Amino acid sequence: MTPLLHKKLLPIAAACLILSSCGQTDAQNEQATSNQNAIPTVETTTPGGSNESGQVSDPLDSSVTTDQNANSGNSSDPSGQTAGADQNAENAATETAEPQLMYHINKAYNVVPNDESIEKKVVLLTFDDGPKEKEMIDGLIDTLDKHQAKAIFFVNGYRVKAHPELLQLIKERGQIIGNHSWDHIDLKKESAANMRKQIEDVQKIVKDTTGEAPRFFRPPFGSGNETTHQIADDNDLVYMTWSNGSLDWDSKNKNKPDAVIANVLEQLHAGSNILMHELPWTVEALDELLTQLEQKGYGFVDPRSIGPAPVEAEAGGTK
Ligand SMILES: [Zn+2]
Repeated sequence: MTPLLHKKLLPIAAACLILSSCGQTDAQNEQATSNQNAIPTVETTTPGGSNESGQVSDPLDSSVTTDQNANSGNSSDPSGQTAGADQNAENAATETAEPQLMYHINKAYNVVPNDESIEKKVVLLTFDDGPKEKEMIDGLIDTLDKHQAKAIFFVNGYRVKAHPELLQLIKERGQIIGNHSWDHIDLKKESAANMRKQIEDVQKIVKDTTGEAPRFFRPPFGSGNETTHQIADDNDLVYMTWSNGSLDWDSKNKNKPDAVIANVLEQLHAGSNILMHELPWTVEALDELLTQLEQKGYGFVDPRSIGPAPVEAEAGGTK
């Protein structure tokens, strides 16, 4: 963004020096240069003037796509209009700018807004137990991209070690990586030291492989205790299990994408934290599932907009 702006402003600055009477506002400068040079103005959106590209995405996606513009001062925009979101989508995967934190995970493991102005009719998409196969990962992410959705891929360390390139694939395709312990064991049965190793070794291998340590942790089987929570805290991990299980792992739903969809829809509620897995029938189910969620008015939370619970929200009670 900045280099483009500089390129465009340099001629103006030069012109100003020569004419020594430059009364134009920045906005006028923008217009003048973009007319002269025919440079697309996609990146030059400013608060209150961001509709020029006319790219208004589906309102259902507001919770996802507003994130990129959150820093531009548009956070009060209830319509969630995100000019340029499409153009920015590709960059978003590689840009370092993190979306503003707008959601947290509550004690029931739902995803909830940090304040009332934020859309609450949203779901969080998660896929556990990978990375296993390129075909399944690409299949899931192709569908996520089609619906402009981001998900958390909760990975196991032993699988990352076997296929670091698959972890890189998830990262490079702009999806979010979570920590699901090294061995996918019941952490509650482990000593505190082993439990810590199970979690922190995954932080390390993910950081070493992708350059970034996970920000989310989900214990296998949803099984944890106070020590598990403490270790997650020590590693700045947001701890969650789930609040909507697709049951795609249940043998009775094997090879039954329709059953996976039905299970999620049966439990659907605002803030659903949807547990799915890297499994062939889930890959097959995902497009129809996301379509139905959209039709019911649900948006997909960008996991990067999920942070620790605000102090007010935590004050509600103790465990
Ligand atoms: Zn698992």
